[in-house]
Amino acid sequence: MPETREFKAELKQLLHLITHSLYSNPEIFLRELISNASDAINRLRFDSLTHADLLENDKDWKIRITVNRDASTLTISDNGIGMSRDEVIEHLGTIAKSGTKAFLEALQAKQESARPELIGQFGVGFYSAFMVADKVTVVTRPGGSSSGTRWESDGQGSFTLESCEKPTRGTDVTLHLKPDAREFLEEWRIRQVVKKFSDFIEHPIVMEAEKAQGKREEETLNSRKAIWLRSKNEVTTDEYHAFYRQLSLDDADPAKVLHYKGEGKIEFRALLFIPSHRPALLDWGEPKGGLRLYIQRVLIMERCEALLPPYLRFVTGVIDAMDLPLNVSREILQQNPQLEVIQKNVVRNVLDALAAMKNTEFDKYREFHRGLAPILKEAFHQDWANREKVADLLLFESMNTPQGQFTTLKDYVEKAPPDQEAIWYLIGETREQIEHSPYLEAFRAKNQDVLLLTDPIDEFAMPALGSYKGKRLQPVDRGDLPGKTDETPPDAESYRPLLEFLKAKFEGEVSDVRLSQRLTESAAVLVADAGAMTAHMERLMARMGRQVDGPRRALELHPLHPAVVALRERHAANPQDPLVDIHARLLLDQALIAEGSKLRDPAGFSKRINTLLATVGKS
Ligand code: ADP
Repeated sequence: MPETREFKAELKQLLHLITHSLYSNPEIFLRELISNASDAINRLRFDSLTHADLLENDKDWKIRITVNRDASTLTISDNGIGMSRDEVIEHLGTIAKSGTKAFLEALQAKQESARPELIGQFGVGFYSAFMVADKVTVVTRPGGSSSGTRWESDGQGSFTLESCEKPTRGTDVTLHLKPDAREFLEEWRIRQVVKKFSDFIEHPIVMEAEKAQGKREEETLNSRKAIWLRSKNEVTTDEYHAFYRQLSLDDADPAKVLHYKGEGKIEFRALLFIPSHRPALLDWGEPKGGLRLYIQRVLIMERCEALLPPYLRFVTGVIDAMDLPLNVSREILQQNPQLEVIQKNVVRNVLDALAAMKNTEFDKYREFHRGLAPILKEAFHQDWANREKVADLLLFESMNTPQGQFTTLKDYVEKAPPDQEAIWYLIGETREQIEHSPYLEAFRAKNQDVLLLTDPIDEFAMPALGSYKGKRLQPVDRGDLPGKTDETPPDAESYRPLLEFLKAKFEGEVSDVRLSQRLTESAAVLVADAGAMTAHMERLMARMGRQVDGPRRALELHPLHPAVVALRERHAANPQDPLVDIHARLLLDQALIAEGSKLRDPAGFSKRINTLLATVGKS
């Protein structure tokens, strides 16, 4: 007659929670039972170093999954250390580990809705079997012992114990599956779950599976290739690249592979990949990439956000913590100080690798930069401590760089004349559009370089960076600029009537009309007030679906430009002259074109040009 015993009170509670609340992520039961089996083998392997008799000549380490469709059972067997009767009572009748207890506490503190997500990160060990089984039978025997122990429970509050025959050493855990968990009798489903969570377990996980012509054969389900645990010189480039493809679904090879051992307070292995280009779907749908967290080869989390700041989300790879205490592994939540230490280490290694790539493999780096610099720039918002380090990774075109060549902030600052007070930049859609911009004229005249930026994110990134090596970053197309020419304005008084006339005429279209000190070649330019939106920013906002009617820009005229001088004279002679009207509007038109805006009335523009052309030659 088997003996019946009660579970400890806490355990009763846990079993209730598991079976009633956590059902939406049941597949992790297999991960937990396989991990236990693998631990049991490792423990025997260790003990047998000093007690060879425990081996019973069986060193063919294996974790076996057996399906019995008729009985609706699934058995996970191992030839590991096994348990004595007392050990069965101790381990399967109480909450043996503090990890499980911590889990229970965290679980009770959580809202019902947060539970399924919690369990995926936590693991609840052996008892997770009751998510899918209404009865669990354990038959176990330690090495060197003559009889085994049979434990059985329905997870409701008690278990039974009896002695039994067990010819082989180790443990068989048999789950009598609930009717709605019969999917776990399907070979493909078992394969899928093993691949997902336990692919890199070092011992073979085998199952008898259907082969050609109805033959059944033993098949190993896990690849066992935890290449991150091998030393660097034992892994070939092909192996690295194949593994990268598997993780990232990127067809291209990675630009850089970082494989190292983290030592110190927390021991871990890191295998990190930096992509060679911007991976598809980085920001859309189910994002790929990110770091997987393993603890001793067992997947704990597929995308562990605590290991990577968002601005490095293009990095893929694996962190395998070797010695995180088990109770810590069971509570991987967002703010875990151990994970923070690993994150810091990962960030430093990735940024250093990028800097090295920029210095020694520039072509490769340029390709990386083209696709991923926009994401890297998010660091200016996210990582204050590393902002200059990230700023040093950026490549810029400037007025002085030939098309397709780059400068860096460091280079720019070194070459700037000592009295240059800021780092100047201008943002627009394309280099062609901005390099002929009227805003640059004064800087060209003073021989100061201006960065030409074409990444839309620069409108946000540059202000977020704010300054570099103590020098302010300053856009040249807004505000009362220091970039003025030194030319003394001519008799400004004589322009007063014209400026008044234009202000009235363009009311509602521009905020002001005034003489400019920033032009040397162009006749007119539109200038945003400091802090106001530039034309480029307006277009950007419009593309993001935002209606903008912020403060308009001021029209500035170059007082020495023949076109402006001519207008002043025509207006002085007869303000009613219809050509004054046409002439004035054309100045505004060209300022709009120069800033890259679309003319609201292109047909009117052509008509005005033609009217003017018709006067050529007449006097
Ligand atoms: P954990 O694995 O977190 O310690 P479990 O609830 O999964 O917690 O298991 C409790 C204990 O039961 C384990 O620590 C181990 O001592 C024992 N155990 C579980 N499965 C096996 C097994 N297959 N072989 C030997 N011992 C086992």
